[in-house]
Amino acid sequence: MKPDPIVPISAIEHFVYCPRQCALIHCDGVWSDNAHTVRGSRAHRRVDSGRHRRERGRQVLRAIPLWSEALGLSGRADAVEIEGGAVRPVEYKSGVRHGTAADLQLCAQALCLEEMLGVDVLCGHVWYGGPRRRVQVDFTPAIRCDVQDVICLIRAQMLTAELPDAPNDPRCAECQLLQHCVPELTSAPRRVSRYMASVVFECAT
Ligand code: SF4
Repeated sequence: MKPDPIVPISAIEHFVYCPRQCALIHCDGVWSDNAHTVRGSRAHRRVDSGRHRRERGRQVLRAIPLWSEALGLSGRADAVEIEGGAVRPVEYKSGVRHGTAADLQLCAQALCLEEMLGVDVLCGHVWYGGPRRRVQVDFTPAIRCDVQDVICLIRAQMLTAELPDAPNDPRCAECQLLQHCVPELTSAPRRVSRYMASVVFECAT
């Protein structure tokens, strides 16, 4: 029997944004950059080039590898802060907050740190480059359940390698995989026929 696939922590954000995007990236190996991902990579290059250091009385460790055997997870924290015995992951985002995706990703990092270090991780921070603001995320029982549910869904997707239908909604305009996904063609059949009708109409006019 094949072992269950390890879920990359980064897949959580992709899945929460769009399950089809997650399948394209993590099952089919498709990747493409757009303005958002290029901005994000630049911001991460700056974070990655930073060294471990002390800042305002706390130890800041950069680019820390993470894993959880219990959850079958692996990834990396942009930074982990240690202050007075408290351990907190920090995630850097170049833009603005979009729903709970970053919170769930951060919580997954916290679950890894708890297992790796044998400590309780009660909260963490997401730093948003758009407003240049740091937002605290408390790891409540509810968010811990949510992230475990998402991990199970991603693992099921990796096992079946099924590509979900394209939602073909406003998310697509901002999506890095828009050119590969072609959501007008790959959404539910009803939408395909509507798309074909619109193409025929455009050609006829
Ligand atoms: S283009 Fe739309 S449907 Fe396709 S992966 Fe991106 S968000 Fe999902």
